[in-house]
Amino acid sequence: MSHVARQADGDEKRERVNFIEQEVLQDLQLPKLAGRKVATRFPPEPNGYLHIGHAKSICLNFGLAEKYGGTCNLRFDDTNPSKEEQEYVDSIQEDVRWLGFQWNELRYASDYFDQLCDWAIQLIKAGKAYVCDLTAEQTREYRGTLTAPGKNSPFRERTVDENLKLFAAMKAGECADGARTLRAKIDMAASNINLRDPVMYRVLRSHHHRTGDKWCIYPMYDWAHGQSDSIESITHSICTLEFEDHRPLYNWYCENLGIYHPRQIEFARLNLSYTVMSKRKLLQLVKEGHVSGWDDPRMPTICGMRRRGYTPESLRAFCDRIGVAKFYSTIDVTVLENSVREHLNLVANRVMAVLNPLKVVLTNYPQDQVELMDAINNPEDASAGSRQVPFSRELLIERDDFMEDAPRKFFRLKPGGEVRLRYGYIIKCDEVVKDPVSGEVLELRCSYDPETRSGDENAVPRKVKGTIHWVSAAHAIKAEVRQYDRLFLTENPEVAPEGENFLANLNPDSIRVATAYLEPSLKEVKQGHFQFERTGYFCVDSVDSTAEHLVFNRIVPLRDSWAKMQEK
Ligand code: ATP
Ligand code: MG
Repeated sequence: MSHVARQADGDEKRERVNFIEQEVLQDLQLPKLAGRKVATRFPPEPNGYLHIGHAKSICLNFGLAEKYGGTCNLRFDDTNPSKEEQEYVDSIQEDVRWLGFQWNELRYASDYFDQLCDWAIQLIKAGKAYVCDLTAEQTREYRGTLTAPGKNSPFRERTVDENLKLFAAMKAGECADGARTLRAKIDMAASNINLRDPVMYRVLRSHHHRTGDKWCIYPMYDWAHGQSDSIESITHSICTLEFEDHRPLYNWYCENLGIYHPRQIEFARLNLSYTVMSKRKLLQLVKEGHVSGWDDPRMPTICGMRRRGYTPESLRAFCDRIGVAKFYSTIDVTVLENSVREHLNLVANRVMAVLNPLKVVLTNYPQDQVELMDAINNPEDASAGSRQVPFSRELLIERDDFMEDAPRKFFRLKPGGEVRLRYGYIIKCDEVVKDPVSGEVLELRCSYDPETRSGDENAVPRKVKGTIHWVSAAHAIKAEVRQYDRLFLTENPEVAPEGENFLANLNPDSIRVATAYLEPSLKEVKQGHFQFERTGYFCVDSVDSTAEHLVFNRIVPLRDSWAKMQEK
């Protein structure tokens, strides 16, 4: 099912119906779901900040609900108190909202601890669960392997009464941590290892961020997840492929409890090149100080990307573009960067900023004259209007836009050569002033052609091949700019040299800080996304920027900006 509309410019705009949507649409026809709308949930564990992989899951779950008039809950899967914190709960809510989604209900797996406990007792009474005294290590041994069946636990045949008593003791805090478990009595010879008498509860004395010290037994993921879905009347429980092998257990619990039974559907998790995605590794980057925090603009976290200047629209467009599949693949990080560029191209106002300045003196321009040049804010959006940029005798241009021994095809400034200053005049480089000792170029002495002012109807229609940006030296304001590069040097950072780990692949040069000179319209700017013409997209850093000390993050460079300028 795919609908392709061809646009005039030949671009294909697809409205795809992914395989999950197809299944969902079919299921909604079933008698079991008669009259129901699709109901999904996004179930993060609050043990870290969300990353771009989670954004994919969020877009999928909330997107389905939005598209088909259903609902999506945000449910914290908080069954593992030793790693979970309120800080993460708060950040996850902020990130989901920022992405542009609103949950139907906010739930916690811990809301269901009492119900889960009652259901455990129900299974014990039905002879389908037992208390086991094997240690964690013994449990592993008895479980068998992919090729060898497991062995029954010696505690498997305990009576219902004994199990009820022992489970009550576990719950009452009469057993040491790890001393006992409650296990489902399924089949130790099952080919699917998850069905070999999986643990439902463990004894664990750990303070829970919501239930405090009420519990000293905590449910395992599998014992909590399907039932939580069931309680919330979720129709489709969408998760990543690693849970495919857990589906039979998900089904077994719902069937044996005789409760409403949602359908689990799996999809392939997002992997991005040059990126690590597991929360454990991201936590390590933060804890060991390889980055400044979860919101470091180089992090693949949603808060990092937000601070970097990525927009929610661009992340949603990215998730849309990569689609949903059943097989693992790695998406090239440039797909993400292009989504960001495409959105910013539409919404970011253009400004002129010089990142690596070279002084230009216009020798024939009146000493104290200042002209205000009309500059268009956004050629993609007429409603963004225009602004005025001061032009004067002393300007700064990008050092790269001048070349002393330039090849023939170099259309920017060279000795004796001409170039147009954006929104200004055509200038000619008459003289190169150098440091007599180092030979470094200190300034260019140029003349301007007063007949060539941009936008002036009476201007002489003269064309030169190159256009460069500039700022007026006396009017420019200084700012710190942080230019980011990939955090990792290798496409798959997980592959590390013998004896080392992913940290060996860190890019030692992933941030470059420079002082830039900006046009004065950016004075005291507090927030926002801009295109620094010909350079890239930048945003005001939300954490470190102040009125006295502006800090900008480079969001993405403009791809091939130079090549594009030549065509103009
Ligand atoms: P990680 O492996 O990064 O630590 P996780 O799977 O433990 O992540 P959860 O908080 O359990 O993180 O994930 C919440 C939801 O997001 C789950 O449904 C999970 O399947 C989904 N999810 C996590 N990582 C990705 C990913 N890379 N791509 C798509 N979905 C993901
Ligand atoms: Mg998880």
